[in-house]
Amino acid sequence: MTTAHAWAAHAAHKPFAPFTFQRRALEPQDVRIDILYCGICHSDIHFARGEWGDPKYPAVPGHEIVGRVSEVGSAVTQYKVGDLAGVGCMVDSCGKCGSCHEGLEQYCEGGMTGTYMSVEKQTGLPTYGGYSNFIVVRESFVLHVKHKQSDLPAVAPLLCAGITLWSPLRHWKAGPGKKVGIVGIGGLGHMGIKLAHALGAHVVAFTRSPGKVEECKRLGADEVIISDNADEMAKHAGSFDLIINTVSASQDLQTFVVLLKRDATLVLVGAGTEKHIAPDAFALLGARRSVAGSGIGGIAETQEMLDFCAERGITSDIEMIPVQKVDTAYDRIVASDVKYRFVIDMATLPGV
Ligand code: NAP
Ligand code: ZN
Repeated sequence: MTTAHAWAAHAAHKPFAPFTFQRRALEPQDVRIDILYCGICHSDIHFARGEWGDPKYPAVPGHEIVGRVSEVGSAVTQYKVGDLAGVGCMVDSCGKCGSCHEGLEQYCEGGMTGTYMSVEKQTGLPTYGGYSNFIVVRESFVLHVKHKQSDLPAVAPLLCAGITLWSPLRHWKAGPGKKVGIVGIGGLGHMGIKLAHALGAHVVAFTRSPGKVEECKRLGADEVIISDNADEMAKHAGSFDLIINTVSASQDLQTFVVLLKRDATLVLVGAGTEKHIAPDAFALLGARRSVAGSGIGGIAETQEMLDFCAERGITSDIEMIPVQKVDTAYDRIVASDVKYRFVIDMATLPGV
């Protein structure tokens, strides 16, 4: 075991503070990554503030990790010391079930092991995330990072925000000739605009924030709708092939379902705990429309997304902060005051 230094939540509404814990010694398949940058996902807030249940404090969030490989186990073949590497929301899965065999480890039937909020199979200890100086992960859950060094802070959010939008965009075949809506332009949503645009779709951003209209266009949106303006919404009735909704608050889903074409899908990725208001049966059956959900993405498709972004120079729009500003960043995210992802510079972690 090796002592790791972290920045942890010690209670739901107390400021973050330093924390030390033990990471497992490397097993033959393990890679140790010294963490350079870690993005702040809204899921970190749900977790650290106990919105998804008791996180068993001290809790170390962070699943948008980029860093440099500093040690490899004897059986590791794909990474060597000095390589750039990423870790997203998962660090393990059973490897045996149908979902794992299909490269959809996030839907592992035995339950995937989260980068935080899980129990590590190897030790029975809690998993601690990326607000820490290093992490030990099985090689098969580590991602290759091919962006240039100077892009690294802005690559971190691809590991969750990027893949969470990429997976449904690919699954529901966003591309040329398709009209794709992205609802809620925060960390996930802004990556949705960039990726859907890069895939060649006609992209429509839905935001409550008039101040984001020009920004959305700069990010790649062809059109922007203020989502609480009923007249603007009505003009798009029956016209979308796909809408991906990233909002974590409760919403009346009917307002988006009626914008779908026949056979089109509204995909929910926001992970709040408040229930949505269900759409009328007639709004669904009248045009064979679907409401679906989607969780992050598998390891192979995460690598596919990272490589796609590296080839095209796609990264996240970020604001870099020291760990000491995590509490302020959380409050600003909740107030939708971030353009569009905070990323922690892990060199600011005390005690390392
Ligand atoms: P975020 O940066 O806070 O963005 C959410 C955006 O939603 C806001 O910027 C805002 O955009 C809009 N919004 C916020 N409150 C709203 C409200 N009350 N009504 C309507 N719109 C509202 O959060 P994020 O990091 O993108 O994460 C979004 C959600 O996805 C979280 O619940 C997170 O846990 C979840 N998530 C899910 C997965 C998955 O696998 N499915 C993965 C990662 C995260 P506008 O200002 O444009 O309206
Ligand atoms: Zn996340």
